[in-house]
Amino acid sequence: MNDLGFDRAHLWHPYAPMGDPGPLHEVVAAEGVWLELADGSRMIDAMSSWWCAAHGHRHPVLVAAMRAQLERLPHVMFGGLTHAPAVGLGRRLVGMLPAGLDRIFYCDSGSVAVEVALKMAAQAQMRHPGRVDFATVRGGYHGDTWKAMSLCDPQAGMHRRFGTALGPRHFVPRPPVDFGAGWDEDSARNGLGAVAALFAEKGHRIAGFIVEPVVQGAGGMRFHHPRWLAGLRDLCDRHDVLLIFDEIATGFGRTGRMFAMEHAGVVPDILCLGKALTGGMISFAATVASARVAEAIAAGPAPVLMHGPTYMGNPLACAAACASLDLLARGDWKGQVVGIEAGLRRGLAPARDLPGVADLRVLGAIGVIEMRTPLDMARVHGFCREAGVWLRPFGRLLYCMPPFVTTGAELDLICAAMLRIAGWR
Ligand code: PLP
Repeated sequence: MNDLGFDRAHLWHPYAPMGDPGPLHEVVAAEGVWLELADGSRMIDAMSSWWCAAHGHRHPVLVAAMRAQLERLPHVMFGGLTHAPAVGLGRRLVGMLPAGLDRIFYCDSGSVAVEVALKMAAQAQMRHPGRVDFATVRGGYHGDTWKAMSLCDPQAGMHRRFGTALGPRHFVPRPPVDFGAGWDEDSARNGLGAVAALFAEKGHRIAGFIVEPVVQGAGGMRFHHPRWLAGLRDLCDRHDVLLIFDEIATGFGRTGRMFAMEHAGVVPDILCLGKALTGGMISFAATVASARVAEAIAAGPAPVLMHGPTYMGNPLACAAACASLDLLARGDWKGQVVGIEAGLRRGLAPARDLPGVADLRVLGAIGVIEMRTPLDMARVHGFCREAGVWLRPFGRLLYCMPPFVTTGAELDLICAAMLRIAGWR
């Protein structure tokens, strides 16, 4: 059995049926924005491998940092022990995050970071018996673990079929005012009225409210107005609900700011980071809380945070993350993202005139063409190799978030491929 045959028979792929994952391309190497396939052909990774390879693949600085760490200490348990990569990463995160967010928990993946955030909120609220529920907006996505998926969109989201098995939680409509649109002060129209009504009725039962700030990713690739986040912060404060921002997809420059919350000037009580944290080298994430949350947990009936994964604070991942954050600190990511945003606006603009296109949205290094009808995934998949551009649409959403190092010529190839697909009949 060849490799693709074995893969098809034995390996599960994301959100795909066992035995029939659809067509697969075999990748043998990657460098910069390019993926090299087994047949020698190449494709630009216009997805940054699901938002993480912000500096492109195998950036030499990241490779060198991980190699050096591999020679010294690839892993050691974090219970009762510590090491320079974990401390160094902590220092860097505290240095770049807004004042007040400085109590860090290292996690293995984004979904786990969300679990930890929810657990932190639940433990911090234990002094208020009954505050055990969570609230969120429709159209969100927070991961695939049990509690995280309970807070994904309940109707259109990937986990909708689990239904009531996911337990009680509260949803408000997605923020209705788009990023870049004029802010509407009327709370019925700007969506904050729905949050206020929920909190007035059930706030005493809600431990925390979780939201992806500014960009809702896998739940619909929509960009909302930052003022909604300021209003949400205010309502959470008034009702003692802890505010959790999930910046797993948006963190580290993707929206044009280092963190999407900076568009709003709002600081949450708990923040989830992941994906681009290690520059796409290895799975890793962090949940960062305020001192107030940490102190509330310490003063509660369960005074220690009840979490401690085997690979917590993995030195190899911490070394990659330190190097990736150093690249961001030294490099011109801001200029690169501004250039990509301008290139996407220019390059994708003709999509507006295509009959099959319902909407075009660009923010930072994210470009989204929303189609009127779902795309034929198998056809897109085959076309990607032909076009030399890797795209992975879902449903009606054809989108890209290329590595920040993508050149103008490479961006032109991405835009041309997206326009070709969007123009299909
Ligand atoms: N939260 C958001 C906003 C995400 O986009 C994702 C992944 O796409 C996750 C959480 C889950 O992260 P992971 O896939 O690393 O578990």
